[in-house]
Amino acid sequence: MVEDYDVAIIGGGPAGSTAATLLSKAGRRVIVLEREKFPRFHIGESLLPFSMQTFTRLGLQEKLRAHFVEKFGGEIAEAGGEKAAKFYFKDGFASRTDRSYQVTRSKFDKMLLDHAGEAGAEICEETSVDDVMFDDGGVTLRIRDLNQAGVADPRYRKIGPELRAKYLIDASGRNSVIGNKFKLKKSYQHLQKLSLFAHYEGVEREAGIDGTLTRMVRTLDSWFWVIPLENNRTSIGIVLEAADFKKSGLSAEQFFERAIAEQPLVRNRIGGGRRVSQVYTAADFSYRSQKLAGDRWLLAGDAAGFIDPVFSSGVFLAVLAGEQAADVLHDVLDHPKRVRRLFRHYERLVNRAMDVYLRFVESWYAGKEFVEVFLTPTQLFQIPPAVNAVLGGNVGNRFAIRWRMELFYLIVRLQRKWTLCPRLSLVPKTDREAAPLNPASI
Ligand SMILES: Cc1cc2nc3c(=O)[nH]c(=O)nc-3n(C[C@H](O)[C@H](O)[C@H](O)COP(=O)(O)OP(=O)(O)OC[C@H]3O[C@@H](n4cnc5c(N)ncnc54)[C@H](O)[C@@H]3O)c2cc1C
Repeated sequence: MVEDYDVAIIGGGPAGSTAATLLSKAGRRVIVLEREKFPRFHIGESLLPFSMQTFTRLGLQEKLRAHFVEKFGGEIAEAGGEKAAKFYFKDGFASRTDRSYQVTRSKFDKMLLDHAGEAGAEICEETSVDDVMFDDGGVTLRIRDLNQAGVADPRYRKIGPELRAKYLIDASGRNSVIGNKFKLKKSYQHLQKLSLFAHYEGVEREAGIDGTLTRMVRTLDSWFWVIPLENNRTSIGIVLEAADFKKSGLSAEQFFERAIAEQPLVRNRIGGGRRVSQVYTAADFSYRSQKLAGDRWLLAGDAAGFIDPVFSSGVFLAVLAGEQAADVLHDVLDHPKRVRRLFRHYERLVNRAMDVYLRFVESWYAGKEFVEVFLTPTQLFQIPPAVNAVLGGNVGNRFAIRWRMELFYLIVRLQRKWTLCPRLSLVPKTDREAAPLNPASI
């Protein structure tokens, strides 16, 4: 028998789980098809405070607080060690909350997926969606059972090889089932980055809330993250041009260890800490789907687009899209005639949120000027609280934030021609002494 659902969701990451929980709570019949068995490793550990409202709506706050490190802001430092700036979410323009979380994703994603199950969604792990076929009445999913030993599990229920749903949410992450099927993925050629990362234990932390911040160290041609996690673990990663890694001829481990050894700010922070995981690599290529909605489908999370992780926006965008997709489909299931208008609204909203981060990211990578301006203290027109708000996930259309962001970008552009803010080398001091810098960059 081919079973029929209101909504089928491909992928049990944050986007899929969020949508599944909300639709199930609203009384819809939902199935999540996830090809992995959770917990599974995933990168993307630093969350933004603007997701907190959604976590409250999902009923997750208590579980999150019990398991993860609360995060109160961030710090951006330049590799030369001359300047660094901390920012706290409480100071963001129209700040709604002063905190979010730093999470081990394997644990976080499992918590969200289990929560969706508790809310009533049917969860099928180790189940791959291999194809989807649309018709006027809905969608047929062709699925493959990857579960070898599952028959021994009392909760195991064989489904497929096909199932039907009225609507589909593709939350399959960077695997982008629909994006690949309809060739919708458009990559940003100027953002072809690569990440190397690992977990450490025993890394030094500051006392109090400063010990919860995500720390970023910006070098001339790369940046590092240092993210404090629970159980004395710390995630450390570097993002760089994919071509630079390829050129080096080194293994991921050799490259990563060398990169850290060359950066005193990161090296000193690790201090006596030690690496406790392998060095992972992830292609970090930014892309966007040219369409986020079709007759019977919506794309959510990385399946809709992936913007470079520098401002930790991925899970925020995934949760935002998951929530919006759930609300839109709940409405459409009652009022099918509204589908076009509501899907258009969804597409606009998610695209606008991604645009905010794309612009931020492009400015960050365009040169040193973003960091030079960011690290220069100013109270001018309350620009820092506006930048802080966007860093926290405030991507609403508030005019008060928009014009301040425009001014920020204008100053960054002007800094390219004139020295409005002190110039920074972004090179560690010892290296600068060994090889004098190009005077133009001083
Ligand atoms: C280097 C790096 C660092 C990052 N750092 C951060 C950070 O600090 N903070 C942050 O917020 N974000 C960060 N991100 C981004 C973040 O990882 C993603 O944006 C986020 O995981 C997206 O969630 P999602 O639910 O859309 O997709 P995912 O979490 O990727 O979930 C998609 C799921 O779909 C499943 N799936 C795929 N194909 C199929 C199929 N055919 N059938 C069934 N299941 C399928 C997958 O197994 C997966 O579990 C980072 C990303 C990178 C690359």
